[in-house]
Amino acid sequence: MSGKNESTASKAVVVLGSTGSIGVSALKVAEDLPDRMHLVGLAANRSADKLAQQVEATGVKHVCLYDETACKEFANLADPSVAVCCGEEGLIELATLPEADMVLIAIVGTAGLRPALAAIEAGKDIAVASKEILVMAGEVVMKAAREKGVKVLPVDSEHNAIFQCLENREASEVSRLILTASGGPFRELPASELSDVTVEQALKHPTWEMGQKITIDSATLFNKGLEMIEARWLFDVEMDRVDVIVHPQSIVHSMVEFIDGSILAQLSTPDMCFPIQYAVTWPERVANTLKPLDFAELAKLEFERPRYEDFPALNLAMQAGKEGGTLPAVLNAANEIAVAAFLDKALGFNRIWETVEKTMMALQNIKQPTLEEILEADRWAREYAKSILS
Ligand code: MG
Repeated sequence: MSGKNESTASKAVVVLGSTGSIGVSALKVAEDLPDRMHLVGLAANRSADKLAQQVEATGVKHVCLYDETACKEFANLADPSVAVCCGEEGLIELATLPEADMVLIAIVGTAGLRPALAAIEAGKDIAVASKEILVMAGEVVMKAAREKGVKVLPVDSEHNAIFQCLENREASEVSRLILTASGGPFRELPASELSDVTVEQALKHPTWEMGQKITIDSATLFNKGLEMIEARWLFDVEMDRVDVIVHPQSIVHSMVEFIDGSILAQLSTPDMCFPIQYAVTWPERVANTLKPLDFAELAKLEFERPRYEDFPALNLAMQAGKEGGTLPAVLNAANEIAVAAFLDKALGFNRIWETVEKTMMALQNIKQPTLEEILEADRWAREYAKSILS
């Protein structure tokens, strides 16, 4: 029995995005805590070889490859006992597997949105690592989850930290959510040199090992901007109560300031296995084999104000989060296009912000959009951003 209402039973988890950095960490957690978490479905984009290894290691019987060509090749080679499905339909099939208790969504970009909604509709709890889901459609997703009585558990380290600090307290008791930001590789670079930054330099994150898109987003601070909007929806607080502080060591993962002036923080070594585990075992805490934090080994913990003027991503995100409607989806989509162009060496680093801002300014915003209107705004923003770039 898969025991959805028994928190102590081993949770049956589907991982969408299993070959990415979050997915790999999720597999480690499952291996570390077999009594708490077992895998029943894995989906990847096109890394067929890596997925095959994961199937072998985990014994999972349901898999999906998003890329249709890679999927057909994979299906031909796979063991007949493994059910292989393809594309967005395949992701939705996995997200709604009858035996699954929880779906971990760790897909880069916007492809996780429909599967997330399908999982909620099927009554599954979702663990969200793909911040696009809540940035684009936070209102729609949280409303659907409330209606279905399912949990939306944050896996992003900052939101997981805030979730741990809040522990079911009312939003009215919160004075500020304080997201920490590493500041990225250019935290101390003079503004005049930001235009000359190379792809290789931007891909060197000081504290976290992550995929390319999120690593560039950490360098521009768009990652933190997206996280501000994500926090606004996850915890139901207005943007004015979402703050950012730069903390280069990435040990304090985020904080909550309450109305009585007390601040709670969550700390650990920077390893995504911590937030993934907590999302799965919540509301319980379970012993593991992860490296504990040694305060004597930490030289220092530093905090500083973000450089709002030199890194405009935070102000753009604040604006998008306040105005709401389709603007956050447009910010997200334009940023994806600009980051891809930067990675292709077709766009200067400091023009990523400019591309996003211009696209946001051109939008006719729709308030309280439907899912279709959100997806349409996403498509429009991609086209518009590309037209600026060409
Ligand atoms: Mg994060």
